[in-house]
This record gives sequence, C-alpha cells and structure tokens, in this order.
Amino acid sequence: MSLTRASPEEKPAQTASPATPQNGARTGGINDPRYISAATDENVKPVNPAAATQAWLDSVPQDQREKSDAYFEGGYWLILWNFLVTAAISILLLSSRLSARLRDFSERVTKIKNFQIVFYAIPYLLLVYALSFPLNLYENFFREHQYGLATQSFAPWFREQLIGLALTLVGGTLLVVVLYAVFRRAPRTWWIWGTIIMITFSAILVLIAPVYVEPLFNTYKPLTDPKIRDPILAMAQANEIPVKQVFEVDASRQTTRVSANVSGLLGTTRVALNDNLLKQCSLPEIRAVMAHEMGHYVLNHGAKLLTYLGILILIGFALTRILFDAAVKRWGGRWGVRGISDPAGLPLLALISSILLFVATPVLNTVVRITEREADAFGINTSREPDGMAKVALKLGVYRKLNPTPLEEFIFFDHPSGRARIRMAMDWKAANLPAGEWQSSGNEPATH
Ligand SMILES: [Zn+2]
Repeated sequence: MSLTRASPEEKPAQTASPATPQNGARTGGINDPRYISAATDENVKPVNPAAATQAWLDSVPQDQREKSDAYFEGGYWLILWNFLVTAAISILLLSSRLSARLRDFSERVTKIKNFQIVFYAIPYLLLVYALSFPLNLYENFFREHQYGLATQSFAPWFREQLIGLALTLVGGTLLVVVLYAVFRRAPRTWWIWGTIIMITFSAILVLIAPVYVEPLFNTYKPLTDPKIRDPILAMAQANEIPVKQVFEVDASRQTTRVSANVSGLLGTTRVALNDNLLKQCSLPEIRAVMAHEMGHYVLNHGAKLLTYLGILILIGFALTRILFDAAVKRWGGRWGVRGISDPAGLPLLALISSILLFVATPVLNTVVRITEREADAFGINTSREPDGMAKVALKLGVYRKLNPTPLEEFIFFDHPSGRARIRMAMDWKAANLPAGEWQSSGNEPATH
C-alpha cells in the first residue's frame, strides 16, 4: 500500500484532497456511512463543513461519548481539589507554626544562608508531597485505571513517582535557593529578578528534558519503518526542519493515550510519536499529527510560550509581592514569618501562587490553546489530510471532551476541542484548495 509521498503522478483533479482515496482504503474505526461516501467520492462534491463535522461527531457511540465527557469534566473538579489541597497544606504549615519551627531547625544546623534554605526546602517539599499524596494517588493512579487509560500496576507507577519526587527535590531546592538569594539582596525588586530566574530556569528545563529527564521514564528510539518514517521526513524537509530522524516513544508503558510531542530547545529539539499512535492510526492520521508537531517547531512555539510565560510570571510576581507583604503585616507575628527573605514564608508564597494560578486557569489554557490552534492550521496545510485530522481528533476524544460549550472550551481546554478541530479540517476540505500543479497541467514548467 503505497501511501507515501503524496502523488506527483496523481491526476490533477484530486489535488484538493490527495489523501481521500487512501483514507477510504484504510478506514480505522470510524465507519459513518454518510461520511465515508462523501470522503471517497473523487468528483469533489461540495462539502458542507457544519454537516460533515456533525457527521463525524455522531459517529462516536453514545456510551463512549458519555465516558469521555465524564472523564474530562472530572478534570474540572480536580483543578479545584488540587487548589484546595495546596491551600490547606500551606495554611496548616503556617498557622501551626510548623514552618517557623522548620526554619528555626535550619538555622540551628548551619550559619550559611544558602544551606539554611536547603535544610528548610527538602523537608518542606517532602511534607507537601506526603500530604498531597492521597489526591495524587486518586487522580493519577485509580482514576486513570477506572477510565481504562492507565497500563501500569502500582509498583512501577510508584517507582516513577519516586523518580519524579527525586527530580523535584533536586530542581525545586535549587530553584528555591536561587530565589531566596535574590529575596535577600533585593527585597523590594525581587519580583523583577525573580521573573528572569524563572524564565532561565524554565528554558534550562526544556533544554535538558529530552536528554536527562524523559529517558528516566520512557525509551526513545528512532523510527525505522520507511513506510511511516519517509512521509514524515518528507514533510520536515519541505519545511526546512533540520531533522534526520523521527522518534518513537514507548508511551504504552504508562498509558493507552494516543499522542505525539515536540520537546527540547535549540539543539535538543526532538519530534516523537508514541507507540499507541503508531498502533491505532493509519498513515494519513499519523501525517496529520506529525505535521501539527512540526507546526510547533516552525512557528517557534517554544520561544513564544516562554515569552508569554515570562509576562504572566512578571504580573504574578508583582501581585505576589503586594499580597505577601500585606499577609506578613497582618499574620506574620502569629505565623513566625519575618519577611520575604525568611524561608518560613515559603508556604505563604505557595499559597499565593496557587490562588493566582487557580484564578488564571482560563488565561493559561487560552494562551496554550491558541498556539495549539496555530499548529493545527500549519498541520492541515502541510499534511493536507482533513479526514486524517478528523479521525485523530475523535481518537483524542477518548480523553478530551469532544463537544463542549464555548465557555467550557475557553476556561478548561488547553487544546482545541474535537469539534473545533474537525470543523477546521472540514472547512479546509470545503475550501478545496488547489495544490499548484493543476494550472500548468504538465504542459510547461512555471518559469514566470
Ligand atoms: Zn500541539
């Protein structure tokens, strides 16, 4: 089945959707008769985008839809529970003066300020992990199994939790030490310098993640099947993306989710598709997904998201400074917190951050969702696979609500909903764009 390299030899009449006959040949799970007949009809019947979108959505069985809606809507509540748990832990540590006692302990152990922060931060991070463990266990283990999304038994899951905790202890302690060094030197302007540190820290994290973090949880190996690899590399080549290989990641170790990602920064950038995607999807679907990931790369989303993040952190830190000083003025005596450079105030910083993050949920989701939509637009234009894109959108619908209200999508969605993605694909299909070769129809080379 040569699905590769869309068709210099195909006849011009098909150029609006070179993939449709192949889609028809490899239908994967979605068998809505209305749809397939429209998709496989090469006489390019005008597509009604709204009706076609609805037909795709209607092809999902009712019980499956209810299950994935329930899973995703449960996630809305988890945002609230996570916020409340963090807030409760922070208030407990402050009002019980446990935080102040931990600070006193660190000051008894050493006179060196930086080490005092270390002796405060490590027990603090361990305590927070332990106290939030029940919710973590429910959210990331039991709930995932309940919805059939997890593949790990408890022992390997917990082992990965411990690796994650170790990384948090190292990275988190380092960050806190650097931040408190800034708090001591610039008690009034720390929010400006702190922002620079947060951006630098995030950039380093993104840069080293593919090399030092991701291999701790999964194995990445180059994709060797030329039937899949070559069409992907062809899209990369057409867009000046300097990759020589595509990676496959064994995500099935943890989950049944279909996914792909682009990670890293500068020299460590890597495009990877997961083995679930490879097993469950046809080539048009894989091309649609990989073109989307390439969109993140070409549109420079890593640098853009870091910039947006920096602006949001600057605003957040400016607010934090005001709220922190006000809280210390009022309750500092009772909690035993002396000021911004006192590590005993770390739970207060965590409390304020969690409030701001909770309130900013729609803003953060929308910032990410907009870049995802840009990658979708790039992906559909590069892959030219509207049906592949629609089918993948339905597969992602296993863990993301397919047809939310606009307000729901605005608040909770960090990716476009399935409906929005399918509609984009159907609009693209209906526009019936020429691919370029139809005008010259092989008579003469286009020299002018
Ligand atoms: Zn994306």
